Amino acid sequence: MATIGSVTRQIAALELNKKPTSSAGPPLHTKQPSQTNVAKLLSKYAAPLPPLSTQNTLAKPQKSTQKMRAPTTGSSNSNRKAATSSSSPAPEATQPGIDIGNYDGGLEIDNEKRGEKVSGEAATELALDSSSARQYPTRVWTLHDFDMGRPLGKGKFGRVYMVRTKAEPRYILALKTLYKSEIVAGRVEKQIRREIEIQQNLRHPNVLRLYGYFHDEKRIFLMLEFAGKGELYRQLAKYGCFSEKRSARYIDQMADALMYLHSKHVIHRDIKPENLLLGLNGELKIADFGWSVHAPGNRRRTMCGTLDYLPPEMVEGKEHGEKVDLWALGVLTYEFVVGNPPFEVRGHGGVDRTYTRIVKVDLRFPAALSPDVKDVIARLLRHEPQDRLPLSKVLQHPWIVKYRPKDCLRGRQVYE
Ligand code: ATP
Ligand code: MG
Repeated sequence: MATIGSVTRQIAALELNKKPTSSAGPPLHTKQPSQTNVAKLLSKYAAPLPPLSTQNTLAKPQKSTQKMRAPTTGSSNSNRKAATSSSSPAPEATQPGIDIGNYDGGLEIDNEKRGEKVSGEAATELALDSSSARQYPTRVWTLHDFDMGRPLGKGKFGRVYMVRTKAEPRYILALKTLYKSEIVAGRVEKQIRREIEIQQNLRHPNVLRLYGYFHDEKRIFLMLEFAGKGELYRQLAKYGCFSEKRSARYIDQMADALMYLHSKHVIHRDIKPENLLLGLNGELKIADFGWSVHAPGNRRRTMCGTLDYLPPEMVEGKEHGEKVDLWALGVLTYEFVVGNPPFEVRGHGGVDRTYTRIVKVDLRFPAALSPDVKDVIARLLRHEPQDRLPLSKVLQHPWIVKYRPKDCLRGRQVYE
């Protein structure tokens, strides 16, 4: 019988994507062990790769949406059955130790109530399918390929479910639905495309994996790594704040993940507890790449992110770069150990006063904090981006090193 730990390891090692025969070496933080068979199995139907010389220029033909239509266009009862029925794989191939819970029929309920078909340019823009992705094509996926489990949450554009692949070895994933018409109404087609493109290329133990994606007439489905312990925000709300030890361990993982992202020229720009999930072993996973930009050598002026986590350069409407994430890391550290963000002002005029406090870096510490944590925060929350403590130095800071588990090899963390 599979244990949670062994299944987690399998999920972590899951490689649904067929790698192109590119000359580039493996990404820095990719987990390597025993993925070959899994990769073969799950990319069995991957679109063939074009020769390297044409890879960047060849536009792959769009697949017919007919082929990928989800089983949710008829009556909700029969659809529910279709979505939940299993293809009964051999018992030894299943993972009976993990219960994916009961499906509530939410996809069918939603599909009747919300979502118009989109047409024209938007339909083309949102015809997202990882089997025809340029860099890492996967096999063709449809809703029929999954057994539906319990609801995990509701996002802005649709519900998220715990699911299991019907194909052996029956992996557990989170399936996130996005209604195309709502994306169009919110005018975020480009942002969603960007989120998907960015996330699909990232491989780091503390960055939520996007294994694949597909679509039907009304919806886009994202096959996400399952974060078994849910939202970090909920933990913070439950406990008020975290101990310095727990906070330091999260910040250690955050710094490592951000270093990886920045090495790929990805700036997250929306670091906050609501965008962090926890894996089955409590390890941190950066999610929600909606505001991130892929900006090699590019400085952006767009105002985005959440007020409490905005750095002075963004509040002041100046150009900004990857160092915005260092500021946010400082704000996050403060919020973990204190329980609220450092420049927050509630009530009447709170927004303006928060802005003022950010620009002045009006930082005040409660007495109970250790000198070490105050030092990390103060070094990250510097007005000038170039003065902020670099991530490599965060990883070496005594406050982080002191609490790092002995068996932890930074970059290839061991969680069990
Ligand atoms: P919001 O504005 O509420 O953040 P969203 O569109 O960003 O919406 P998500 O945050 O991705 O949606 O998903 C909604 C909820 O579903 C999350 O708050 C979380 O509880 C749950 N969830 C999402 N992805 C996963 C996952 N990979 N593993 C476990 N739970 C998840
Ligand atoms: Mg979210």
